[in-house]
Amino acid sequence: MDFSRSGAEVEFIEHVKRVIEERLRPEHPSWKADMTTPHELWKILGSEGLLGFRHTEDGDVRIPWQMNIHTYRELAQLSGGLAIAAFAHSQLGVQAFHFFGTPEQQKRYMVPGMDGDAVIAFANTEPGAGSDASALTTTAERDGDEWVINGTKAYITNGDLSDHVVFTAVTDPGAARAHRGISQFAVDGDADGLTRMRMQKYGWKESHLSTLRFEDVRIPAENMIGEPERGFYQTMDIFNSSRIGIAALALGTALGSYRMAYDHVRRRKAFGKTLFEHESKRVEFADNLARLEAGWLLVEKAAWLSDTGRESRANASMAKLFNTEEGMGITQWATEAFGARGVMATHPVAEYPHDAKAALLGEGAPEVQKKIIAENIDSVLDEM
Ligand SMILES: Cc1cc2nc3c(=O)[nH]c(=O)nc-3n(C[C@H](O)[C@H](O)[C@H](O)COP(=O)(O)OP(=O)(O)OC[C@H]3O[C@@H](n4cnc5c(N)ncnc54)[C@H](O)[C@@H]3O)c2cc1C
Repeated sequence: MDFSRSGAEVEFIEHVKRVIEERLRPEHPSWKADMTTPHELWKILGSEGLLGFRHTEDGDVRIPWQMNIHTYRELAQLSGGLAIAAFAHSQLGVQAFHFFGTPEQQKRYMVPGMDGDAVIAFANTEPGAGSDASALTTTAERDGDEWVINGTKAYITNGDLSDHVVFTAVTDPGAARAHRGISQFAVDGDADGLTRMRMQKYGWKESHLSTLRFEDVRIPAENMIGEPERGFYQTMDIFNSSRIGIAALALGTALGSYRMAYDHVRRRKAFGKTLFEHESKRVEFADNLARLEAGWLLVEKAAWLSDTGRESRANASMAKLFNTEEGMGITQWATEAFGARGVMATHPVAEYPHDAKAALLGEGAPEVQKKIIAENIDSVLDEM
């Protein structure tokens, strides 16, 4: 087993950190004050090659997970809101076209998405269909050369500010099993009949969460992505990959809070010495560092499995489950080191627990991760 990094990986990680320090950190306070993610965020990340994909002589390719995980880990330490805005666009929206788009769709949506010139939201969840992603009620009915869309999507990251939205809808209401009657489509954000509203939430402050109401929205027939009635499976394929990124993002959230607390306890004094010089505090920091390291190893293993074409579903879910559940505890614990400051609305450490809670739900709640892990026990055991 070799944990050393290649030269390209080291260079990529340094590049991510430099972009964050030089181009995002200076802008972040004003974005945060406005509680928004301007298009400038994607433009910066796109121009720096940090939207998860890259143009090569052989075509457009996804940057390996073993590199992308560093982007989401580092972004989440600065801001979970910026991290999720970048992640949902790249690993859900752009990814849909990368996996399933026609060459024309890739040219129209994926390339501007990769470059940060267009923002793409991914809308699967509905008010009545979250964990059970087959329970959709949004419909797409064929009318000549068009599809007519009706229904509501909810809790959609970047939904109200995106240029395009990838979404799922029922095209065969008579399908013997609901998940076999769903297809995937693209719609422009300014389409007639599409009403988009920002929702108010805790956590991931700068990122927008939205409802999308479709009322007789007409889209051309060629806006279907992938195969008819394969939309559920395509969505699951996208999630099976993207979970690795959200696990890295959750780890970054916990790590950000840990670093902030570590910095604080080495300066703050109580009873004549720094907090960190108290044995019980040192033990807490040791315990939580072990949790962070274990979480990161899970992320790296899932990334390696995926990059090398091996079965990675259970490992991606374990990485997501562990890092989001441990992240809830670590971020809460980190605030406690700050005493009263830790409950101040303006203190950055107070935001991490909210970000951790948001990460727990996005890309599938813990029970959904456990379901996926349980379905794959044998394949994991075979490798042990
Ligand atoms: C900040 C944020 C951003 C999001 N961004 C997007 C996005 O960009 N696109 C998108 O499509 N969706 C997005 N979502 C939606 C997210 O995917 C859903 O919230 C998630 O799938 C859970 O669905 P739900 O909220 O309807 O909860 P429910 O499915 O109603 O679950 C409620 C509770 O029941 C538990 N539960 C569910 N099933 C079982 C079971 N079988 N056994 C036991 N317990 C169970 C769950 O774990 C959870 O605790 C986002 C959510 C959040 C919070």
